Amino acid sequence: MTKAFVVGHPIKHSRSPLIHGHWLKAYGLDGSYERIDVAPVDFGDFLRGFHAQGFAGGNVTLPHKEMAFHGVERRTERAQRVGAVNTLWLKDGVLWGDNTDALGFIGNLDASLGTGWEQDVETVLVLGAGGAARAVVAGLQDRPLKRIFVANRTGSKAEDLARDLRPGSAVSLETAAWEALGRVIPHAQLIVNTTSLGMAGQPPLAIDLSRAPRNAVVTDIVYVPLETPLLAAAAAQNLRTVDGLGMLLHQAVPGFRRWFGVTPEVTPELRAVILADLEAAR
Ligand code: NAP
Repeated sequence: MTKAFVVGHPIKHSRSPLIHGHWLKAYGLDGSYERIDVAPVDFGDFLRGFHAQGFAGGNVTLPHKEMAFHGVERRTERAQRVGAVNTLWLKDGVLWGDNTDALGFIGNLDASLGTGWEQDVETVLVLGAGGAARAVVAGLQDRPLKRIFVANRTGSKAEDLARDLRPGSAVSLETAAWEALGRVIPHAQLIVNTTSLGMAGQPPLAIDLSRAPRNAVVTDIVYVPLETPLLAAAAAQNLRTVDGLGMLLHQAVPGFRRWFGVTPEVTPELRAVILADLEAAR
């Protein structure tokens, strides 16, 4: 039997076991995927010891993603760029790390908007400059876009992100002032919220979308609630919207493939399973 895990602290809120459990059942595989709570002080030991406990690999969530980045022996180029690792596996005795949030974000856009969506997008506005923003920008940089603007409440973090992710990319990466979003919004055909604003219990992200291009797409990576105030405001302006749940589902695909040897599909059934769980938790 192949065993995988999701490790974090706390970990009981993680929906990854539901996603991987659904796929294990759907594909009739002899495997397991379990939650493991590991305090930061013990994470190094966990990283060195999980293989001896019979695990093929697993996911890493808060607050361990940066520690995992430093603790692995090899990283994918994508993880290197993002500066965080959320997926671990062993290959020929070597501990590897990847960051699949970037793929999850882009995979969700591809699935929701159809491949080739970039043809209608020259300029992207990314709101936020935390860990998730780095993955989102790294994912966008793999696509033939002209420019990405990053705006963050704490401007210096947007500058840091742009400095770290700019090298080697063909897509122009610039910062925009949080107070002057109104100047960028009319030029952005894709607007992405990666801040925690709009999440249940947080204030909404209040931006004026009235001057957004008519063909703009607004997407939020927050998925609790599924329709954030930002997405509701975009829909009210007749703009296309993409919710954040698909990113969570798509980011799980590469790990499952590595541990269990099957490329799983993100299906409406899987989405319904997770939606039901989100509803039950309300
Ligand atoms: P993080 O590293 O803590 O970053 C938080 C971001 O939110 C920062 O840019 C922060 O700005 C901004 N922010 C927080 N409060 C704000 C406020 N009152 N006004 C303006 N900006 C504010 O968090 P993260 O890991 O990037 O995650 C961000 C969100 O993405 C979370 O809600 C998380 O659940 C979600 N997420 C979703 C997925 C998915 O699969 N859909 C994956 C990863 C994350 P400052 O720098 O100024 O503090």
